Amino acid sequence: MIVGNWKMNTTVESAVELASAVKRGVSEDIASDVVICPPYVSLVSVSEAVRGSRIAVGAQNMHSETNGAFTGEISAEMLAQICRFVILGHSERRTYLSESDEFVNAKVLAAKVAGITPILCVGESLADRQSGRAVDVVTSQLDANLNGIDRNANIAVAYEPVWAIGTGESASPDVAQEMMARLRLALADLLGDRATDIPLLYGGSVNLSNIASYMAEKDIDGALVGSASLDADTFCQLIALTSSSGR
Ligand code: PEP
Repeated sequence: MIVGNWKMNTTVESAVELASAVKRGVSEDIASDVVICPPYVSLVSVSEAVRGSRIAVGAQNMHSETNGAFTGEISAEMLAQICRFVILGHSERRTYLSESDEFVNAKVLAAKVAGITPILCVGESLADRQSGRAVDVVTSQLDANLNGIDRNANIAVAYEPVWAIGTGESASPDVAQEMMARLRLALADLLGDRATDIPLLYGGSVNLSNIASYMAEKDIDGALVGSASLDADTFCQLIALTSSSGR
């Protein structure tokens, strides 16, 4: 699985251009699930642009409530008519918008009710890693964010070390694999046998030079890509590399 997080980039017009270019560049027989996540305002136009292709569309966030007095917010029910995925718990939202584990958990549960698949992001800060707390922090985040989750819920989990996002400094494949193995075990406690089917994605400065080394790791099933997903050629090559890993 490969997910492009466009963050707060593109206008409606340039989002459609980018989505159309990705659609043209992706072969019909790719083995991976491809998801692109444009800003809210472009979701409808981008969904139309990729219709009939292997590319799915996701939102970058949503609110946990279904409707009501939450000015500026978008609910899972609203998204369900437009897209199949939603990124939840991205570290930029946790950091800049003070999103708590409890809020992310409420969103995950609301996504399930609406039939949208959350791409849940977890990851440790540089200070957590330097103090040897990375595994504890990340597995606690996972447990808190998936509290009360249904055993048959669809979900993907992205391990994104905060210090590797948008910094050009990526986690080594060994470090990423070590965390993924711990996440897989934590998922087994929550979801039983289904843990083996949950896509585990690595995110944090993924590019053309390093994606193959992540995909070669046993517990890494794909990538969440930020800046490198904003260039159609690069993203299409990343898709091809993910797909050819045979996962
Ligand atoms: C992200 O936005 O989740 C991300 C991983 O960004 P980048 O690839 O730019 O580090």
